[in-house]
Amino acid sequence: VPAATHDASSEQVAIRDLAGLAPAARPARRWTPRRVVVTPAALDHPHGRQIVTRVEGLGIEVERLRANRLTGVRGETDRETYARAKSTMAIVVSPPSRRTLQPIAPSADWRVDLAEGCPAHCQYCYLAGSLSGPPVTRVYADLDDILAGLAGYVGRGTVTSRSTARADEGTTFEASCYTDPLALEHLTGGWRRAVEHFGTWNAPVQLRWTTKFADVDGFVGLPHAGRTRIRFSINAAPISGRFEGGTATGRDRLDALRRVALDGYPVGLTIAPIMPVPNWQEHYGALLDEVRAAVAGVDRLDLTAELITHRFTPGSRDVLLGWYPRTRLEMDEQSRSRKFGRYGAVKYVYPAPAMRELRAWFERELAERLPACRLLYFT
Ligand code: SF4
Repeated sequence: VPAATHDASSEQVAIRDLAGLAPAARPARRWTPRRVVVTPAALDHPHGRQIVTRVEGLGIEVERLRANRLTGVRGETDRETYARAKSTMAIVVSPPSRRTLQPIAPSADWRVDLAEGCPAHCQYCYLAGSLSGPPVTRVYADLDDILAGLAGYVGRGTVTSRSTARADEGTTFEASCYTDPLALEHLTGGWRRAVEHFGTWNAPVQLRWTTKFADVDGFVGLPHAGRTRIRFSINAAPISGRFEGGTATGRDRLDALRRVALDGYPVGLTIAPIMPVPNWQEHYGALLDEVRAAVAGVDRLDLTAELITHRFTPGSRDVLLGWYPRTRLEMDEQSRSRKFGRYGAVKYVYPAPAMRELRAWFERELAERLPACRLLYFT
């Protein structure tokens, strides 16, 4: 899939602002999986059956598997396996391990998974180091049980309760750790259900996710009660244009951000992965100016930013080089610093002087160009 281009026109956005209007919705770029399968166990769940109906309603055939094991994904070569897996969607029941939520600092208190896998082709994809096996997209049929299980975690904050900048968020649940919600919503309807679920909650809670897609039509007008923060993952034009295949354009993401912000959703920027490419100050400055134009005139704007520099592990590097052998993504261990995680796993990050320079620049420029934006963290 060719990389998307980043062609945001701040002038057009500014003209719409003068008219006080939300951007006109352009037809969203929607994924059509080549193969959709459903397991017998998934068909026992109402949401599983609803996904089947929805997918068949879109004219896509759904293959009923005889057993709860997915087969027929591996090809003759790694490339073929990758291509087959990336074009397959499986409707399954979530693994039992996923039902015990894990803390997910610094993004949120808890990670909740409604799916795993993503149809896009970002050459730095963070899923490469997190998920094992062929990258099939699995959507979970047991949504009702997953949502019902969240109540036991409310009030048990790990991140937001310790941060004064986030004290008003309540207990936060991150729903995009292993997937991109807006890439799949037209096929599952699951995140809309989750937004409505959080909207009815009589407790300080927040659902949050980040996306590189722009298909927000189904979310505008939902009774969200301000309890879902939709963040858009954006990047400088040379990075977005070169490395983010199969995603919505940067301009469409910012148009979508404006639409949901005008609908009263708290919104956010996930600027990631930040890379000090040549002339990075100029490119990231242009990006922040595009955001400024996109949020101009939004009443009661609630905008946050999360800044994540590029990093990789030996494992994710190997997987990515298998998926994208001709990538021009820099993953040179010699030019990086090693950082050790809680369990001793190593990751490669930019050296301390580069990190300091990036951080200082973003803190200063965010404050100047987007003074209404709250910076949640830089990592
Ligand atoms: Fe990976 Fe996100 Fe890109 Fe999907 S949109 S391929 S999850 S980085």
